[in-house]
Amino acid sequence: MVEKIQSIHHISAIVGNVQENYDFYTNILGLKLVKQTVNFDDPSVYHTYFANSNVDNGTIMTFFPWENEHKGTKGGGQVGRIAFSIPKGSVAQWEAQLEKHNISYQKSEMFAATTLEFSDPHDLDIALVESEVNSENNEILGFYGLVLLSTNPQGTLDLLTREMGAKLVEEADEYLHIELTGPEKHRVLLFKKALPLGRFGISTVHHVAWSVDQLTDLQAWRDYLKDANYHLTPVKDRKYFKSIYLREKGGIIFEFATKEPGFQVDEDFDQLGSQLKLPEQFESKRAEIESSLPDFKVD
Ligand code: ZN
Repeated sequence: MVEKIQSIHHISAIVGNVQENYDFYTNILGLKLVKQTVNFDDPSVYHTYFANSNVDNGTIMTFFPWENEHKGTKGGGQVGRIAFSIPKGSVAQWEAQLEKHNISYQKSEMFAATTLEFSDPHDLDIALVESEVNSENNEILGFYGLVLLSTNPQGTLDLLTREMGAKLVEEADEYLHIELTGPEKHRVLLFKKALPLGRFGISTVHHVAWSVDQLTDLQAWRDYLKDANYHLTPVKDRKYFKSIYLREKGGIIFEFATKEPGFQVDEDFDQLGSQLKLPEQFESKRAEIESSLPDFKVD
C-alpha cells in the first residue's frame, strides 16, 4: 500500500527570456535561484529552479525559458494559476511591492483566503495567498496551491481523491477545492468545466510534480498506478530527484518525484544556483552547450 500524497514537489512552467524570468522571481518575488541547469531532454534550453530562502521541500518552482517567442494556449490538460503562500498580515506589503513594480493585480478570495492575482512578465498566471502562518519577514513561504484545467474534471478528481488520497473540502462556483494531507495543506482548485486541450508554449505550465519520499516509494507508486490502469514512464534520473510521469484522464501531466537526493548533491548550500550545472551525460559537451545558451547573469 502506498502513502497518501502529502504535498507538491515542484511545478514547471514554460516562460520567455531567462534573464527577465530570473529578475522577476528573485528581485520582485524574492525567491532564491537554487539551480541552473539545462532541460535534460533538450540541452539547448535552460532549466532553472527557484525555492524559498530555506530551500524547503515543496517550494520548488522551475522554468524552461524559451527564447523562440512561441506562445502557448492556456486550456485543458494544464496547470493554471500557480499560488504562492505569504505570511499572515503581509498582504498590504505585497500589494505595495507589486505597485512599486507597476504590476497590475486583482484582489480576490479565489483560494478561499485573501488572494492577489497577477501575471509574470511572460503572462504566466500567479497568485499570492495569505496563509495562517506567522513569519518574521514577509517572504514567500512556498506554494499555497494551484489550479488544474482539465479536459475531464471527473477523471482528474478521481485520481486526486481516490488514488492520491487528497480531500474534497469545498465546492465553489467555478472550482472544486481539494486539499492535500501534508502540513502545508496544499490546495488544488479543479476547474469544474471540461476545457478543450490547450497547447504548450510560453505562458503555460508544463506539469506538476507530487512529492514522495524516496526511490522505494516511487516504485511503489509506479506499481500502484499501473494497477489502476495508468500508463507510466520508467523511473527517470533527474539528478536532484527521481521521477515518473503520467498523463491523467483530464490530459494534465502529473510527475511523482522523490525528495532525495536534493539540490546539494552537486553544490553547497551557499553556492546553490551560482553556476551552470550539467548532468554527467552532458559534461563532455559543456563548451558546445554553453555557447548555444542565451546570456544569463546571476546577481
Ligand atoms: Zn518536473
